[in-house]
Amino acid sequence: MAYKLLIDGELTDSDLRLEVVNPATGKPWTSVPRASAMQAEVAIAAAKRAQPSWAARPIDERRKVLRALADRIETNGEAFARAMVQEQGKPLAEASLEVVHASGFLRAFAEMSLEAEVVQDDADYLIEVHHRPLGIVVGITPWNFPLLIASYKLAPALLLGNAFILKPAPTTPVSALMLAEAVADLVPPGIVNVLVDDNDLGALLSGHPDVQKVSFTGSTVTGRKVMAAAANTLKRLTLELGGNDAAIVLDDADVAKVAPGIFGGAFFNAGQVCIAVKRVYAHRSIYDALVEQLAALAREAVVGDGLEQGVTLGPLQNAQQYAKARHYIDVAQRDGAIVAGGGFPDGGGYFVEPTIVRDIAPDSPLVTEEQFAPILPVLPFDDLDSVVDQVNAGEYGLGGSIWSGDEARAFALAGRMTAGTTWINHHLHFAPHVPFPGAKQSGLGVEFGQEGLAEFSQTAVVSMARGKV
Ligand code: NAD
Repeated sequence: MAYKLLIDGELTDSDLRLEVVNPATGKPWTSVPRASAMQAEVAIAAAKRAQPSWAARPIDERRKVLRALADRIETNGEAFARAMVQEQGKPLAEASLEVVHASGFLRAFAEMSLEAEVVQDDADYLIEVHHRPLGIVVGITPWNFPLLIASYKLAPALLLGNAFILKPAPTTPVSALMLAEAVADLVPPGIVNVLVDDNDLGALLSGHPDVQKVSFTGSTVTGRKVMAAAANTLKRLTLELGGNDAAIVLDDADVAKVAPGIFGGAFFNAGQVCIAVKRVYAHRSIYDALVEQLAALAREAVVGDGLEQGVTLGPLQNAQQYAKARHYIDVAQRDGAIVAGGGFPDGGGYFVEPTIVRDIAPDSPLVTEEQFAPILPVLPFDDLDSVVDQVNAGEYGLGGSIWSGDEARAFALAGRMTAGTTWINHHLHFAPHVPFPGAKQSGLGVEFGQEGLAEFSQTAVVSMARGKV
């Protein structure tokens, strides 16, 4: 299949190409065009030309575009899912779920509104708050959920009358280019542009004077670079960055019910989820039982090529991430005891067995850093206050969860977490109507919900004095 960039309404090629590696084999699977800096400039100029008349259209027309795109993603769901398995590595069932979520987010945003609000209306003043388009929004996405993240950045940008430029991660460009093909004839030329790069266009896009906003998802390190590049023109930024989510399991939790929830939260997408459970603190009275059940679930997992039936855990997405996972297995051996997994099934791909680590030092890098891999440290605790301190320490504050049979106790504890989201008796849950913020260096701004939608607009106040003139 010939994948194409989308620039100024044209599905277009380039002189530059990029090989896409299938992480299940470690070998090139396909190749795609890669945009030059000149092509990025053409896309920005086209977006700038097209955006005002797009913004002037009735919002219902833009809603229809989002619904039509959702229809196309669903109609081609099988193709999207199979491509995602081959470029990203996730099992087919997880890729199919990602397709469902991508179209679901598009449909949900199609129903959302940012109405003007009257904040004062009396004898002295009529004051209204409006939300206007920003202009050009750039979406820069990572490689863990290539279709979903692109879709949930495109949807609010277009709904509110902005033009949108998508730049996917270089290791997962295929689903973005399939999205480009699906959207190409639904919008006027220039309103959506899709540019593949080799990690070389992010700075150009996030520093460009004609770009008004960058919605970025990726690592904290790159997020800082985006912020620095955007400073020149004081661009609006939404940064969704790294996390080191903890799950705290209290002594009153039912271990048999908790274990599958934590396991799913930790090992979905081979642990490559910003809001995955990345460390577990379990009360000592249930510690051994929980470790045992997590280990049993890890041993049951079927690691392999995501296109093979029965596989529940795919490879790591890329060679760099695989090397990082191997490093954390070494750390686990040094600082703790591996009770399940720890191996690297061969076959050429970036496979890592789901790994459970117990009795690990609380200051081990596997506990304090973001592993982004299927390796889960489980620590015992006696004193809840010191666990809260440990969980809140560190630069990240994305999410976290509390597992308890006592809802009131769990709610009270949630109030002590320095995190954007605290889940109680579940983890990994997010939805279009629920704000998704990051605390500390896990992010800046909010995605989803009314608050997240508003970040794709310029707030504009109209204030009229009455009886003065
Ligand atoms: P990354 O930061 O390496 O790359 C993300 C994107 O940034 C890619 O498209 C990349 O090409 C681009 N990029 C690279 N250099 C750039 C630059 N100088 N300027 C602008 N863009 C540039 O992240 P990754 O390795 O693809 O993803 C993994 C990380 O993302 C993890 O830390 C994870 O926690 C985080 N993540 C966060 C969320 C969230 O919502 N908080 C979601 C998914 C992933």
